[in-house]
Amino acid sequence: MIKVENIVKQFNKLKAVDGVSLEIKKGEIVCLIGPSGSGKSTVLRCINGLEKPESGQIYIQDELLDEKNKESYKNLRSLMGFVFQHFNLFPNMTVLENLTLAPIQVMNKSKEEAQEIACKYLERVGLLDKKDEYPNKLSGGQKQRVAIARSLCMNPQIMLFDEPTSALDPEMVIEVLEVMQELANEGMTMVVVTHEMGFARTVADRVIFLEDGKIVEENNAEEFFKHPNTQRAQEFLNKVM
Ligand code: ADP
Ligand code: MG
Repeated sequence: MIKVENIVKQFNKLKAVDGVSLEIKKGEIVCLIGPSGSGKSTVLRCINGLEKPESGQIYIQDELLDEKNKESYKNLRSLMGFVFQHFNLFPNMTVLENLTLAPIQVMNKSKEEAQEIACKYLERVGLLDKKDEYPNKLSGGQKQRVAIARSLCMNPQIMLFDEPTSALDPEMVIEVLEVMQELANEGMTMVVVTHEMGFARTVADRVIFLEDGKIVEENNAEEFFKHPNTQRAQEFLNKVM
C-alpha cells in the first residue's frame, strides 16, 4: 500500500530523515520506534503529504506522490487517516458535529448519512452516549477515541498514528490502545509511532527502529523484542522497557 524509497527530508542543515526506505503491505501493522528526534514524525508526515522530501519517492498504492500530479495528493487524502498526539477536535462543535463535518463537506454525504456513519463509529469506540457533548466535557482518552472515530468516518484504507497516547494520563492510555488493537484485529493497515512497547510487541507485525533519521533495525515484532540485532536497539529497549 505504501512504498517509500530512499527519502531525505532536511530542515536547514539537519537531515531529519536521511535515506529511509520502507514498505507497508495491506493489513500490516507497523510500529515506528526510536528516540525523540530520530525522525519518526517526519517520516509519517512525508507519507501523508504534510512534508515534501527533498529526494526519494513515495508511492501510495503504486501511484507516485508528485506535486505535478494533484490527483496523487487527492488520492492520498482519501486513502489515509491521521491521528496526532493532540486531538485537534473543534471545541465549538459537538462530538457528532466534529465527526460529520468532513463527510458532509468533503465527501458530499447527506447530513443523515453522515450522522448514521458517525454513530456507528462512536459506538465502536464506546462513546455513542457522548455524541451531543462538547469536547471540553470529555477526558483526554475520550477525546482521542473521538479523534479516531472522526478519522474512520472518512473510510480510510490506511491509518497513521503519531504517538496517539503520549499526551494522555496513564489511566487513559489503555482505552485508546484497545481501540487501536480492535482496528488492527479488523484488518486495518496501520503505521504507528509509539513509545508503548507493550502495544508494539503484541499488536505490530513489524517494528522499524529509527535513529538520526535512519533505519537502524527492522524486524518482525517478536524477533525485535526478543533479540534486537543492533546494540543501539538493545540500548533503546533497555531504557524504555
Ligand atoms: P521524532 O518524531 O522521532 O521525535 P521528528 O521527526 O519530529 O522526530 O524530528 C526529527 C528532527 O527534525 C529533530 O531534530 C527535529 O528537531 C527536527 N525537525 C522536525 N520538524 C522540524 C521543523 N518543522 N523545522 C525544523 N526542524 C524540525
Ligand atoms: Mg514525533
